[in-house]
Amino acid sequence: MKYSAPKGFQDILPPEISVWQRIEAAARSVFVKYGFHEIRLPIIEATDIFVRSIGEITDIVEKEMYTFRDKGDRSVTLRPEGTAGAVRCFVEHGLHNLPSPQKFYYAGPMFRYERPQKGRFRQFYQIGVEAFGAAQPALDAEIIAMLNDFLKSIGLLNLNFELNSIGCDVCRPVYKEALQLFFRDKISGFCPDCNRRYNTNILRILDCKVERCVELRGGAPAVSGHLCEHCRIHFDELTGLLETLDVPFSLNANLVRGLDYYTKTTFEVTSEHLGAQKAVAAGGRYDKLVKEFGGPDTPAIGFAIGMERLATLLQTVVPPEKAAPKVFVATLGKQADTEGLRITKSLRNNGLWVEPSYGGASLKSQLRKADRIGAEYAVILGENELSSGKAQWKNLKEGTQGEVALTELQAFFAKA
Ligand SMILES: [Zn+2]
Ligand SMILES: [Zn+2]
Repeated sequence: MKYSAPKGFQDILPPEISVWQRIEAAARSVFVKYGFHEIRLPIIEATDIFVRSIGEITDIVEKEMYTFRDKGDRSVTLRPEGTAGAVRCFVEHGLHNLPSPQKFYYAGPMFRYERPQKGRFRQFYQIGVEAFGAAQPALDAEIIAMLNDFLKSIGLLNLNFELNSIGCDVCRPVYKEALQLFFRDKISGFCPDCNRRYNTNILRILDCKVERCVELRGGAPAVSGHLCEHCRIHFDELTGLLETLDVPFSLNANLVRGLDYYTKTTFEVTSEHLGAQKAVAAGGRYDKLVKEFGGPDTPAIGFAIGMERLATLLQTVVPPEKAAPKVFVATLGKQADTEGLRITKSLRNNGLWVEPSYGGASLKSQLRKADRIGAEYAVILGENELSSGKAQWKNLKEGTQGEVALTELQAFFAKA
């Protein structure tokens, strides 16, 4: 029997994992300075949570969710994104009673049943942030600046921040009407998805990637011309603040995002080095969602970072690090094996990565192994060394060697 990971699922191994860990560590260290705290959310939620928030007529809910009935006959879904669960958590725990805004981040796997392709997996990882309880554009600016800080901190410069506002309950219906009018006579030329979207979710025609749709929608009315005064002021203040905070951005009137719950600000960070799937992070405001989940009227905004794409991108800038031990302890004979383990432990307690030999092999094959795993030093311990109280050391990188008293090993490697 030969097993392999399910289609669309992948294992992430060393040394590539070092890139993931670098991303996660950088995210934590930047987010904490902005007052974002980690939350850990279930991977499974009641299906209804996603249908209600993401929207019934979206690709995710219609085609891509891992939904099944559990043994209690409840319909549950492997989370396809993080915001819905975070909002459910916010409402369930009454977090609106705490001082606003409440700011959270989470990291973990998400699941969508999509056609596997380059850079797309059925289990994929996101780092997401959500901030609840401030309607001011200062919060939008802050989290976009935080995202920018984070990307810079891992060494990714020259990414594009694209920004848009998709309006609110007041102005979006008017804008949708303008779009309907514009597309009415041309819609038959668009792809089947866009024809469906014309009746269900017309904004999404604006981000269709099919070439003829891109061409045919040229000259479509831009949302910027249809924002109500409230939304326009919010957007103008946001762009002003981003300039103040030195966050470079460009406006993209077609940035509508695929989810129903967005209001006002939407944004995306893209890279030209990623081909068609070029967004590494995306987010927006969702001022209505908390109320829809039964909570009090609470404005909110968030974004999610796609780990796979970010890791791919980062590897082109900083190659993955192949980690290697500082010391390999080679031992010959039962007594030396035991003493080797004691030495290994005490050097580890001093903060070094040390690998013991586990005994039984010839010195030659032990040193070959030390070399293969990239150890910087080998310490050699046999019966002679035990009786003389000295070990031999070899620097495997430089080819130097010598003797060191067993009692001096700590001091020797503290300086080495
Ligand atoms: Zn509006
Ligand atoms: Zn289309």
